[in-house]
Amino acid sequence: MIKKLLFGLIMLLLLSFIVGIALVVFSNSYTPSKSNIVKPKNALPIINKTEGVTQVNGHVIVNKKYKLPPQYQPGEDKIAKRNFNKLLVKGEDAQLDLKFSSSYRSYKEQQKVMKDYVEKDGEKVARQYTAKPGESEHQTGLAFDVGTNKPLDDFHKDFEKTKEGRWIKQHASDYGFIIRYPKGQSHETGYAYEAWHLRYVGKPLAKIIDEQDTNLESYYRLNEK
Ligand SMILES: [Zn+2]
Repeated sequence: MIKKLLFGLIMLLLLSFIVGIALVVFSNSYTPSKSNIVKPKNALPIINKTEGVTQVNGHVIVNKKYKLPPQYQPGEDKIAKRNFNKLLVKGEDAQLDLKFSSSYRSYKEQQKVMKDYVEKDGEKVARQYTAKPGESEHQTGLAFDVGTNKPLDDFHKDFEKTKEGRWIKQHASDYGFIIRYPKGQSHETGYAYEAWHLRYVGKPLAKIIDEQDTNLESYYRLNEK
């Protein structure tokens, strides 16, 4: 009886020794938590310019300062499109009237869009709501405009107030999109508020930009250079 008890005790000691060793070994494996990811706030962004195309930490940047060359024709980005479609399906589930409006436009197509608007509204007015060729984010293939079939007096002014506009603002980042030109940030982005213009940056960055209520230029401090 005592022998059995002693044997049990020894086994128990041996087992706890093995478990102890295992704990020490496994606690050495490093799993980065969210708070360990270095943010550009603390580290300078890496700006890379190849054949006239500027990338910041791997994200293509286009605005009035960083232009795209005419020969840059990537077409519509497949991953971005897939996520955009998911967003639309989710919107449909929520009984919203959302639709795809436009995405990729080449330099030449933007030239034509600009020309048509200038003919319609005059140069000064057209410049306020449309980008010059080489300055349009639609040339990256990562920008998507949403629309709605709802009757609105002025889509550009009224979309943000619709159920659809409000829903997009809340859910775009779930699919890796940001409202590229947020309200009240035109001095940083160079463009007036566009509630319908989405830019794909992937979910991690989209979430950060949304939570901080900021924009690509400010987040990567592009106007400081
Ligand atoms: Zn757009």
